[in-house]
Amino acid sequence: MQQFQNYVLGNWENGTGVETTIYHAITGKEIGSVSSDGIDFSEVLNYGRNIGGPTLRKMTFQERGRMLKALALFLMDRKERYYEVSAWTGATKIDSWIDIEGGIGNLFANASLRKQFPDLPFYVDGTAAPLSKNGSFIGHHIMVPKEGVAIHINAFNFPVWGMLEKIATNLMAGVPAVVKPSEYTSFLTEVVVRDIISSRILPEGALQLLVGLGRGLIDHAESCDVVTFTGSAETGRLLKAHETIISKSIPFNLEADSLNATVLGKHASPGTKEFDLFIKETVKEITIKAGQKCTAVRRIIVPEEFIEAVQKGISERLSSTIIGDPSAEGVRMGALATKTQVGRVRASVEKLMASQDIVYGDLDRFDVVGADKNSGAFFSPILFLNVDPFNKTACHEIEAFGPVSTLMPYKNLDDAIAIANMGKGSLVSSIVTPNNKEAVDYVLGAASMHGRILVLNADCAKESTGHGSPMPLLTHGGPGRAGGGEEMGGKRGVLHYLQRTAIQGHPTTISAITQQFQVGSEMPEANPHVFRKHFEELVIGETVFTHKHTVTDADIVNFANVSGDNFYAHMDATALEGTIFEKRVAHGYFILSKAAGLFVDPKKGPVLLNYGIEEARFTKPVYPGATIAVRFTVKEKIDQEKRSEDDIPKGIVKFLVDVYDETGETVAMATILTMVKKRS
Ligand code: NAP
Repeated sequence: MQQFQNYVLGNWENGTGVETTIYHAITGKEIGSVSSDGIDFSEVLNYGRNIGGPTLRKMTFQERGRMLKALALFLMDRKERYYEVSAWTGATKIDSWIDIEGGIGNLFANASLRKQFPDLPFYVDGTAAPLSKNGSFIGHHIMVPKEGVAIHINAFNFPVWGMLEKIATNLMAGVPAVVKPSEYTSFLTEVVVRDIISSRILPEGALQLLVGLGRGLIDHAESCDVVTFTGSAETGRLLKAHETIISKSIPFNLEADSLNATVLGKHASPGTKEFDLFIKETVKEITIKAGQKCTAVRRIIVPEEFIEAVQKGISERLSSTIIGDPSAEGVRMGALATKTQVGRVRASVEKLMASQDIVYGDLDRFDVVGADKNSGAFFSPILFLNVDPFNKTACHEIEAFGPVSTLMPYKNLDDAIAIANMGKGSLVSSIVTPNNKEAVDYVLGAASMHGRILVLNADCAKESTGHGSPMPLLTHGGPGRAGGGEEMGGKRGVLHYLQRTAIQGHPTTISAITQQFQVGSEMPEANPHVFRKHFEELVIGETVFTHKHTVTDADIVNFANVSGDNFYAHMDATALEGTIFEKRVAHGYFILSKAAGLFVDPKKGPVLLNYGIEEARFTKPVYPGATIAVRFTVKEKIDQEKRSEDDIPKGIVKFLVDVYDETGETVAMATILTMVKKRS
């Protein structure tokens, strides 16, 4: 019998004995076993902290992003093997696609986030805060990687996605991971981790895997670590209240089960495109992954006048959903992951039956195609009807983690919102309506109790990613019962693994720390001009002090002619009464354009192009007669990878353009973005 292995302390290791025997979800045949018994969890966590952490922390966000991209490409090339193994979990091709390619997609999405981070191992958060009258003392925030490990305890339903969506963020942040997937499906995680380790794309110690129960792992967590948990609310609560978590103030991100609701709007009556969309989307959310999705629709809330039509529509569609071996022709829904799950879902359904009626499906009588019903972990889709959702509340409390959902009526939208909110906090909810007023009212009424809300109508349906799919760039996580956690979330997800520290001091010191120029810092004069220097030679803070220009009426008229901007404040001195202007004022765009004329060194050199302007402000009116000049300072540098062999080696340089007048006061400020060639 194959023993799936743990990857710890740089080696593949068997645990002692057998903690769990693994069975094929379709055939019921024994596949192997897992165990993490006997492994010293304290050493595992220390290995991550001492071996993986230091290397990751030295890398910049750009390097970590490129590492994730390389890993994503590497895994994508090997995905066929993951599909083969995923089939053992009872998954259809689409179910596996969500898990495997959805997971790899998370690596790509996080890799792309590098563009939102500096070319540094740490992040500079926000802008400087002025803390003194004369500007010699300022405050800022940096966020450095935590010096611990990310401990991920994951649910059984997404053995690949569950790991990849989590490690993508901690690796991007520069923190190593120890992953403990559920023992029921960790064999698939193991196959992927084998490839990750053999690729040598991640530094050693950046990723360790425990395939068994891992009980006691949290006992060894330290305050520098972060624990994430994805699973049932019950286990989540238990672990969140763990003595170690509380006594050491260890961040604990809880992603628990939730009783997600979908609402049919009153305007989506039978016969509308939205009504059909609602039926289709709801059935998809009941049957995909055989309902083993934390975001699956558990409650279906519909106007009372449409309840029969909805029940009929869903039942008809469910009856054409063939259950069985996903490799058999026509099969649309596979098995649950294990027979243990069958027992658990059945027990939950039986509890729900005490207060509501099954209107579609049967616990025992259903057909299975291409497999032996009794050997595999099969389960029929079950649709309940609860006509009194305010008083019969089991459907708002019990999560049957399978293809099980409850239909319930509402009278008006306020009732629909109240029923949805009776889930006491959910990951996701959706409303299907062609009417934006109804959508607005629902979203504002339900938002405080939901981590994500999908508004579906015919205009977005074709490109909609659906009720059940969390997106890597959005924060996925819900309040209350759903755990109050946050995961993924684009840049926000990465920040979760960084420690924010406020730093206070002189602007020159803060510039040195943040490696970004802060106003008030020393500005050594650039010699030669910064446009004559290659990327590597530019130093943060070095400044070109330009010659001066006195603004004239002719400048204003000429600029109005060139641009066609004849706004009265520039052109009509008689129209200024009641405005803040004392005289015809120069165009702000003229000031910036003239600034370019002053700061540009025109000869061909390392500066390849200027590709944009950020944070442009016109801070003081400039009238004819004023004399302006520019302080042009290297503000920030971001290294760039070559996109192809023949790409020019270059980096991005941000320059601060500070235009000031004869009083020394700033009249306009902007950051320009340039691409500058590297010497090598
Ligand atoms: P579970 O029984 O709560 O287990 C979740 C994870 O916790 C598993 O890896 C489990 O390990 C581990 N675990 C349990 N007791 C532990 C302990 N004392 N110490 C350390 N680890 C412990 O959940 P599940 O049955 O795997 O997953 C299904 C549930 O997850 C559903 O309720 C679903 O809604 C929820 N879920 C939520 C999300 C979300 O994002 N909110 C996503 C997916 C799933 P073993 O399995 O090895 O015992």
